[in-house]
Amino acid sequence: MKVVVVGGGLAGITAAVALAQGDADVTLLEAKPRLGGATMSFTRDDLVIDTGQHVFLRCCTAYRGLLDRLGMGAHAPLQPRFDVTVVSPQRRARLKRGRVPAPLHMLPALLRYPFLSYPERTRLSRAALGFRGLKLADPATDEQRLGDWLAARGQDERTRRTLWDLFFISTLNVPGDDGSLALAGKVAQTGLLGDADAADIGVPALSLGELHGAAAERLLGKLGATVRLNTKVAAIEAKGPNEFAVQIGRTAEGEDILSADAVVLAVPHEAAARLIPPGALPAETVDGWAGLGAAPIVNVHVIYDRKVMDVPFAAAVDSPVQWVFDRTRISGMHARGDDGQYLAISLSAADEYVDVPAAALREQFVPALAELFPAAREATVTEFFVTRERRATFRQVPGTARLRPQAATDLPGLTLAGSWTDTGWPDTMEGAVRSGLSAVIALREQADNEDAVSELTNEQVNTVDSVREVRS
Ligand SMILES: Cc1cc2nc3c(=O)[nH]c(=O)nc-3n(C[C@H](O)[C@H](O)[C@H](O)COP(=O)(O)OP(=O)(O)OC[C@H]3O[C@@H](n4cnc5c(N)ncnc54)[C@H](O)[C@@H]3O)c2cc1C
Repeated sequence: MKVVVVGGGLAGITAAVALAQGDADVTLLEAKPRLGGATMSFTRDDLVIDTGQHVFLRCCTAYRGLLDRLGMGAHAPLQPRFDVTVVSPQRRARLKRGRVPAPLHMLPALLRYPFLSYPERTRLSRAALGFRGLKLADPATDEQRLGDWLAARGQDERTRRTLWDLFFISTLNVPGDDGSLALAGKVAQTGLLGDADAADIGVPALSLGELHGAAAERLLGKLGATVRLNTKVAAIEAKGPNEFAVQIGRTAEGEDILSADAVVLAVPHEAAARLIPPGALPAETVDGWAGLGAAPIVNVHVIYDRKVMDVPFAAAVDSPVQWVFDRTRISGMHARGDDGQYLAISLSAADEYVDVPAAALREQFVPALAELFPAAREATVTEFFVTRERRATFRQVPGTARLRPQAATDLPGLTLAGSWTDTGWPDTMEGAVRSGLSAVIALREQADNEDAVSELTNEQVNTVDSVREVRS
């Protein structure tokens, strides 16, 4: 079976690897000069920069499975225990899980959390119990706004800003109160209230370009797949069941068309709406994808002449800083003979920052870091720059679950993938990988000879089946 995968982000990489591990003849087409999609790196003055800091949790089993397949698992270490330093201009605290079993593992840390009053801390259990009881697949859950739901469970403004925002702004990429309750519930049920170790945080120890894109290119090459970079698909024509013509933009040699028995369309929803052939899904379904919108993430990169932060990463409250990461080692700064420290501030739901000039962001964030880390007051900023991802994720607000399509389409041989599709997860690396697996499973279900499409491991099939179970 000849399969073309369109889009080389994590969803497309996952699908291409799974297909190539079977008997499929796979071609992966990616518009950009490298694989990895939203997880991208570039070089600036001998430093390796990720356009956006990425983290994951131990419960991201599908993503971790992909890393293992890429031979990269050891380069994305997980904390032995969930452990987050929370800093404010006045004090610092540590949210660390205890050794007690779930769901009590976070309780001791939360009861000591100094940014909330004692009555506010005792009311946290109301929200936790509420999250546990949520029916995530119920469409009514996704219609609710997180902030309203939390407020109705006694979570006042301060509790929402200094505790719940830590988890939900970064995972849903919209202002804390505005998120979809179903997606927040997914994060809470799986990460915070699931297995005791589910929320242990993983931070890549290599640049994302090395961890994903370069490793995927190597593995796909070994598996005999063809990877074509700088190759933007212009159109996909369905000539019949399991018969497609994938049209690539014109080249010097003329029109470039690939024929395929199957296509996995693993591009963002705006591109998917343009490329999906007529008849694959009802027009109103495709038109509805525009309603998923887009939300930005901005990273503010600050390099100091000395060490100013003494932990690998921290969350901030009562500060415009949300999360801040030490990227000194990953960036290769020491290799260029620089013994300072490189911090990256990750700003999710960054509508208010995405169009602000770098100079103005510098005026705001350098003093903000100095408030949080006293050593920064004496230090000199040697470099400052900003990376902006305007369409980092879809806008994960109420009412979006019904817009997210399943992998299978009405055209045999054409499936959809991407973190925006119906994975039940927020728009994350885990969602992207799950969508890639779902797309391959959907193709396999349509094919006469299942082995011809792919040999997914039982673990991969179980991962996707568990998603289906939850959603049905
Ligand atoms: C700054 C930032 C920070 C983030 N932080 C986190 C985090 O901490 N944890 C987490 O889990 N997730 C995070 N995410 C989200 C995560 O990166 C995405 O959910 C995931 O990578 C999306 O993967 P994807 O394959 O679905 O889509 P994409 O990565 O968008 O891949 C789609 C690919 O399709 C290609 N394409 C588009 N049109 C065409 C065409 N016509 N022809 C060929 N190719 C085409 C694109 O170039 C792209 O490479 C973050 C995202 C950003 C931007």
